[in-house]
Amino acid sequence: MQIVSFVNRGYAGDIVTVEVDLRRGIPGMDVVGLPDSAVKEARERVRAAVRNSGFRVPRQRILINLAPAGVKKQGAAFDLPMAAALLMVDSQVPSPGAYTILIVGELELSGRVRPVPGVLAAVHAALQSGAHICVVPRENLIEARTVAGTKAVALSHLAEMPHLFSLMQHGYQKSYISNCVESVTGANDGSAGDSPGTADRTTGQLETGLDFAELIGQEQLKRACMVAAAGRHHLLLFGPPGGGKTMAALRFPNLLPDLDRTASIAVTRIYSIGGALPAGSGLITRPPFRAPHHTASREGLIGGGGNVQPGEISYAHHGLLFLDEALEFGNRLLQSLREPIERGIVQIARSGCHYWFPAQFQLLMATNACPCGKLGQVDSLCMCSPLELHRYWKKIGAAFCDRIDMRLPVELSRSVTLSTENGLTTAQMSRKVAETIQIQQQRGSLRNGDLGPTQLWEYCRLAESGEAILNKAVQSLGLSTRAAHSVLKISRTIADLEQSPHIKSDHIMEAVQYRRYGESDYYWKAA
Ligand SMILES: [Zn+2]
Repeated sequence: MQIVSFVNRGYAGDIVTVEVDLRRGIPGMDVVGLPDSAVKEARERVRAAVRNSGFRVPRQRILINLAPAGVKKQGAAFDLPMAAALLMVDSQVPSPGAYTILIVGELELSGRVRPVPGVLAAVHAALQSGAHICVVPRENLIEARTVAGTKAVALSHLAEMPHLFSLMQHGYQKSYISNCVESVTGANDGSAGDSPGTADRTTGQLETGLDFAELIGQEQLKRACMVAAAGRHHLLLFGPPGGGKTMAALRFPNLLPDLDRTASIAVTRIYSIGGALPAGSGLITRPPFRAPHHTASREGLIGGGGNVQPGEISYAHHGLLFLDEALEFGNRLLQSLREPIERGIVQIARSGCHYWFPAQFQLLMATNACPCGKLGQVDSLCMCSPLELHRYWKKIGAAFCDRIDMRLPVELSRSVTLSTENGLTTAQMSRKVAETIQIQQQRGSLRNGDLGPTQLWEYCRLAESGEAILNKAVQSLGLSTRAAHSVLKISRTIADLEQSPHIKSDHIMEAVQYRRYGESDYYWKAA
């Protein structure tokens, strides 16, 4: 019988064995094994909770060892496993047989068990390392069961521990345990059962009933959104206020299909680690949509902090990161997005340790075309000087700009009719996107926006006429190799949208249009 717990280290973490030794001496409790202050304080919480739950604190010297000693232990999730190990060594609760049990949970002085962050990661790691059962706070049960099924059981009060452990002692039988656990936890909330699907809820997702049909006369903008969504291409929208940039961005998430199970687990794990998963939540099944304000700190955007928390870019994993008024974020913050965009993960160094989080997000950005915002407006005059314009666009930086696949000027709609009859709706667009994603999946595991040089060569071959068009664009627009590759990928997506196996000249010409307006062509010449 072994009690283990878990400590988060960024997205990853370590299984920690909790051992207790009782010996003669002056009564007291010592915790060894690199505990942080929260874990040291656990001594007092454990003592009070044990007493207030009807147990007694052994009048001996108590030594609690958290192994391996070299891993820093942080947070309050060690309260419950420490209390459990103590009560078991002192024979106040039955030892549940030859099992490895993961226990996580914070204790209130009353003995009530409080939810903790990172339960999904803990359960996942524990099962992989051979744990037989996972005891988690009641509020975390649905989350734990998304990966552990009935191997996860809940505890809402320390006083319930003898009952739970004696059930385990009577033989670990999955069905038996899970049936009995209902009586222990009083779980009548419909959360029981190992079908995670029943308890799924959505988090991090902007719930909008917003429809693209409301963008009247903006079919070009809608088309670009559809291409970007279908191929996972990063998109920059620029133009005067009121053109529909933000409207389009807010509707964009509804174009994307649900996450598959692997992606769901990864996204849920990040929210769980960050403590951003509401109590009682199951798997996140919709692509997240994150829209941080431009006053966001670097830590908030990229991740970090004392306990190394995920940032917005990780909360947007497998979903969308929307930067409204993107240039207001400032050059340094924008540049810090470059590496995560390239690698799909973010690395954070803190006091000699390296942490990482996944950050495979699709970037959506919206900005005015000039500092005053009037550039591109038909009936008002922009007074910005060329120098001001240059400085404004320089914030985005050439290297960062190069990574944005599509840039679209968004003019004010000149449509006088308010009829939505001929415009595409979100339902129509998302159906097209889903079909196009399916075509990509049949070809390989990557979306077009993520293709590497090898796949590019394989999937994006051009006919001679196509090559000629691309070469001409490369010369006239001064496109970098990366930009040329990007045009190829977008062409592939457009061809897929049209269900064309071959990339045709039209597809390339449309893709080139999306690639214009870079760092050297920032002027938006109003027609
Ligand atoms: Zn201006």
